[in-house]
Amino acid sequence: MNPLEDPLLSGVAHGFGVRGFEGPAGLLQPRQVHGSVVVSAADCRGRREPPDADVIVCAESRQPVAVITADCVPILMTTSDGAAVAAIHAGWRGLAAGVVQAGVEALLRLADCSPGSIRAAIGPHIGPCCYEVDAPVLEPLQRLFGERFGLFRRAVPTRPGRDRIDLGGLVREALLDLGVPEDAVGQAAAACTRCDSERFHSYRRDGKRAGRLVHFIAARNPAVGSERKTDIQA
Ligand SMILES: [Zn+2]
Repeated sequence: MNPLEDPLLSGVAHGFGVRGFEGPAGLLQPRQVHGSVVVSAADCRGRREPPDADVIVCAESRQPVAVITADCVPILMTTSDGAAVAAIHAGWRGLAAGVVQAGVEALLRLADCSPGSIRAAIGPHIGPCCYEVDAPVLEPLQRLFGERFGLFRRAVPTRPGRDRIDLGGLVREALLDLGVPEDAVGQAAAACTRCDSERFHSYRRDGKRAGRLVHFIAARNPAVGSERKTDIQA
């Protein structure tokens, strides 16, 4: 099975994970801890144990960087010129801890650009059909999103105190809040990991034996971009 692509990221090499896909050779990734710390590809290179982080950013051409998930939301981002990229692991804990904001801000700093030039794509994650949670998850997200949170939750009539929530929708909302344009947030690969056992690993479905999906992105060679520019000018 080939990894899933999003047309919004077509300028850079990328892929959202499916079963059996291990990512391109030489990819760099942090050790994920459900927080909001950002590292660079250089921080992860040549280390026996990668640093703890849930965002990795990179402006080195063709260096794939990755995050892994099994139900949480993977986000892959690039600047519009493809010169800088980021991969984010966003579960509810990370979202509540500000991981989306940390990732967007780090990419903006690295590329020295504005949110209007970011393109982001949301990959396969547990859908609102399957993501039932209780108060310890609902309360911090309610605080973060305020009244809007109601749009992303549905009560489960048979289980008082438990709601199903749309984690991917909340991630998208967080990206829009940061100024990423609505038409620059892709969801082409945003299928439900728990429903689709043929393609995806799911922690909720498979428990501790669940595998992990590998999601990667790589900045493109700046030389290619400048050649193109020359062509257009000529
Ligand atoms: Zn589902």
